[in-house]
Amino acid sequence: MSNETNAQWSAEDEQALLDTIDGWIEKSVAPIAREYDLADKYPHELVEEMKELGLFGATISQEYGGLGLPASIYAKIVIRISAVWMAPTGIFNSHLIMASAIERAGTEEQKRHYLPLMATGELRGGIGLTEPNAGTDLQAIRTVAKREGDHYVINGAKTWITNSLHGDMILLLVKTDPDSQPRYKGMSMFIAEKGDGFIVANKMKKSGYRAIDTCELVFEDYKVPASRLLGGVEGQGFKQTLGGLELGRINVAARGAGIAEGALRLSVRYAQERRTFGVPIAEHQAIQLKLGEMASKVEASKLLIESAAKAFDKGERCDMEAGMAKYFATETGAYCAQEGMRIFGGYSYSTEYEIERFHRDAMLMCIGEGTNEMQKIIIAKQLVARNAI
Ligand SMILES: Cc1cc2nc3c(=O)[nH]c(=O)nc-3n(C[C@H](O)[C@H](O)[C@H](O)COP(=O)(O)OP(=O)(O)OC[C@H]3O[C@@H](n4cnc5c(N)ncnc54)[C@H](O)[C@@H]3O)c2cc1C
Repeated sequence: MSNETNAQWSAEDEQALLDTIDGWIEKSVAPIAREYDLADKYPHELVEEMKELGLFGATISQEYGGLGLPASIYAKIVIRISAVWMAPTGIFNSHLIMASAIERAGTEEQKRHYLPLMATGELRGGIGLTEPNAGTDLQAIRTVAKREGDHYVINGAKTWITNSLHGDMILLLVKTDPDSQPRYKGMSMFIAEKGDGFIVANKMKKSGYRAIDTCELVFEDYKVPASRLLGGVEGQGFKQTLGGLELGRINVAARGAGIAEGALRLSVRYAQERRTFGVPIAEHQAIQLKLGEMASKVEASKLLIESAAKAFDKGERCDMEAGMAKYFATETGAYCAQEGMRIFGGYSYSTEYEIERFHRDAMLMCIGEGTNEMQKIIIAKQLVARNAI
């Protein structure tokens, strides 16, 4: 995604798009959320509708057949869907992180071939970074690609890879020079389409973010053409991964804010329905204190996201701002989901009520796309660097 070329959306276009998304959520997402989450059932029908809505091309430039949405509008879409059911946003979010890496760092041939197919959803992707021994410390990965003629041969294992069962390909982070020091200089990324040696070993059983396929992958002498090395030059993989973090963090922040808003919405309603001691619980101060705190944090999250997204759309550096939005909005998601559980009392533990899904989904946002512990460290380092004495 080239952030500066995509900002051509009028306020009317934006509203029309958001109204369409709202209509789709009401008609297609809300009615199936509880059933599909509890059954851990993949929402194939939503995927087809996402294709029609253009969501698989949301942030891909119009030049390559996408909608070319600025991050600020894209974030609003993600917040809206996540306020009802966060999990389906992963189907196009991870896909778009891959597309944005190709658009930013791919060769001309890679862009012309993959982006139009990704924009329609004909080819669907994800991101393959994490390994059993390496999540935060990505430079510790052990998957290796060795050049043999016009191919690379890849061996190794990945874990927690979303979209890898029902998708067609992933952007795979590997070592092309495992002995390199510093370690990051030996890392590369490949556009890895499914084929011989690309083994989906196991669909993981998850407490939250259910219905979406997150799997363990094994690569056994998996051959990938050299033309699928992202950008065509070895040793750029770590830099290419870092290059997507700003947009990735804005995306995850939006998911967290959506969860927070959804939990608040459910809580405001339930607090007026449930009566104790002769009055709706909304009239008890203890509940009012919770709702007041939740609502303020939801609004603050949205403002942080908007400010990071606007900076991103203008092409300004926004790593610290995106980190703040990610940290605050996802902690707010976890906070509001937990406060919602308290407001629902014992019924929060019934799967008849939606609040328990928000609670199960919320913590993941604090962990994915750089844990919140790491966000705070990054924010502090940036703060010192930008204010060096
Ligand atoms: C449902 C789900 C879906 C996922 N989807 C994907 C996907 O599609 N693609 C993908 O590549 N990955 C995916 N992941 C993996 C996710 O990105 C990692 O779990 C995450 O990066 C954390 O890595 P880890 O689990 O190895 O934790 P670790 O790195 O082991 O961290 C454990 C704890 O130690 C802390 N910590 C680690 N290092 C430091 C440090 N230097 N300073 C301070 N604290 C530190 C962390 O903050 C954390 O609290 C997914 C994970 C889940 C649960």
